[in-house]
Amino acid sequence: MSQFKGKMFVFSAPSGSGKTTIVHHLLSLKHLNLDFSISATSRPSRGKEINEKDYYFMPLSEFEKHIKNDDFVEYEEVYKGAMYGTLKSEVERIWKQGKHVIFDIDVIGGLRIKRQFPDTTLAIFVKPPSLKVMEQRLRDRNTDTEDKILERLAKAEKEINYAADFDTILINDHLETAKTDAENLVRNFQ
Ligand code: 5GP
Repeated sequence: MSQFKGKMFVFSAPSGSGKTTIVHHLLSLKHLNLDFSISATSRPSRGKEINEKDYYFMPLSEFEKHIKNDDFVEYEEVYKGAMYGTLKSEVERIWKQGKHVIFDIDVIGGLRIKRQFPDTTLAIFVKPPSLKVMEQRLRDRNTDTEDKILERLAKAEKEINYAADFDTILINDHLETAKTDAENLVRNFQ
């Protein structure tokens, strides 16, 4: 493991909560010295996603090899048949650059990271103002089938119950305010 151990900022939320937009904003603020933890996934890429930038896309067989080798900090079957996980090598890559790690991962994975690194992790739950707003955001995104949208909504209802286990809840009601709040949270924890 690298000498430098940076902080870990976990952003977890139901998809459609706006968490990815907030994470991208934080990454654009160079003074925060953050780098994005690129997850491995067995799901195919969609839209404009780029391999090794958005995700390490890989077939399920390769993902399973990594599980067997104990290569993951955490992993999860987030959706039926779709595995997602954080590789130890990814955290190491970021620490080696002397940067803090920012994670955009699901609720269960986020809490696993917090449990493993309790003192150096700030776990933030991004809450959409309502499930209705979230549903609209998913539909506007126009990247998922109706079945997938319904699956994401069902999952969101369950995920909201975990909000209280996080260090802090960030309500994404007004995006600009949520971005500023997120920046302050990160700055104050560094
Ligand atoms: P999407 O398919 O929309 O990119 O992501 C689906 C869900 O998987 C999102 O909630 C996302 O945060 C989560 N996710 C992405 N990477 C990881 C990871 O490495 N571990 C876990 N547990 N969840 C992840």
